[in-house]
Amino acid sequence: MTTCFLASDGLASWLAKSAQTRRVLAPHKEGKAVLFREWKEGDPAPELAKSTISPKGAIIPACETLVKYQITKDPENLSKRSLALAAPTEATPTVLFGCRSCDARGLVALDTPYLKGKFKDPYYAARREATLIVTRTCDSPTHTCFCTWVGGGPASPEGSDVLMTTVDGGYVLESVTDKGEAFLKESGLPDGADKMDEARKTRTEAAKKVPARPDLSKAPERLKARFNDMAFWVAQTSKCLSCGACTYMCPTCQCFNISDEGDASSEQGGRRLRSWDYCMSPMFTREASGHNPRMAKAQRMRNRVSHKYWYSTETIEDGRFSCTGCGRCVAQCPVSLDIREIVQKAIEE
Ligand code: SF4
Ligand code: SF4
Repeated sequence: MTTCFLASDGLASWLAKSAQTRRVLAPHKEGKAVLFREWKEGDPAPELAKSTISPKGAIIPACETLVKYQITKDPENLSKRSLALAAPTEATPTVLFGCRSCDARGLVALDTPYLKGKFKDPYYAARREATLIVTRTCDSPTHTCFCTWVGGGPASPEGSDVLMTTVDGGYVLESVTDKGEAFLKESGLPDGADKMDEARKTRTEAAKKVPARPDLSKAPERLKARFNDMAFWVAQTSKCLSCGACTYMCPTCQCFNISDEGDASSEQGGRRLRSWDYCMSPMFTREASGHNPRMAKAQRMRNRVSHKYWYSTETIEDGRFSCTGCGRCVAQCPVSLDIREIVQKAIEE
């Protein structure tokens, strides 16, 4: 493991060095929101606040082109056409700087559907491989954070290549993976081993700020038992607006839609798009016949909560929840629905 020290006033120049060879994505304040944006040399040092939306868009863009197509007609024989397809799967080398441990753990959960199933998603795989993740260990968990309830913590290293912890006068950077090790070795930063005690203390203090952890080990079996208890689900969901904010913010939500769009400049060309979708939408499961297996919002909430606290424990190889306790869905729900309360009520006998 390599440990380095980065002085606070050297952050921008250190990122500028990285930006010479890679795209740097960093948190940026826009109005009241903190969003991941490309950082370039000359920009002010990035915000170190937790982003409003998770940075999963670095790996799964909110909208991306999967395939471009072009149909060409033979001028000698107009009924004869040829089709050219192009699938742009190359990924830009990227540093994802300043996400939180809950966000990096979110990518570990996303690896299961995108990389470990029968088919490997080449778009996701290329971006995952090309992205180096520098996680800022969290020193200020809020009342909506609950990473320790679900196997994480403010300084959990899972999913990160480098961990960055605030200490007096700057940051300690520690490599977690070989990719992170190589990155720090090429950074030219001085050794930071003598700052590690201070970094550990910061992390211990941060973990104490997360609300006390309840026992969630029975969540999968209790949610299974509650599956047909529609009175329970209706009661938990009555306030929900089906707005989808909870899913768009989430570092582990993975639903998408596919649509085709013609090229405005060519009647014969176009592209196939993949865009984020959300299982809280009544349209998400509507079938071509018009039948909808999740017509009621109570059914959709049951699916969302069960996916995170039951189904994922059977699909992700180490049996983890696919909720990282980032708390964004709690903080951003316009009607204050709280997934922590729903799971704990489901666990009650
Ligand atoms: S379900 Fe909520 S708390 Fe859990 S990872 Fe998603 S947004 Fe964060
Ligand atoms: S953010 Fe709240 S209101 Fe909107 S879909 Fe999610 S639970 Fe429902």
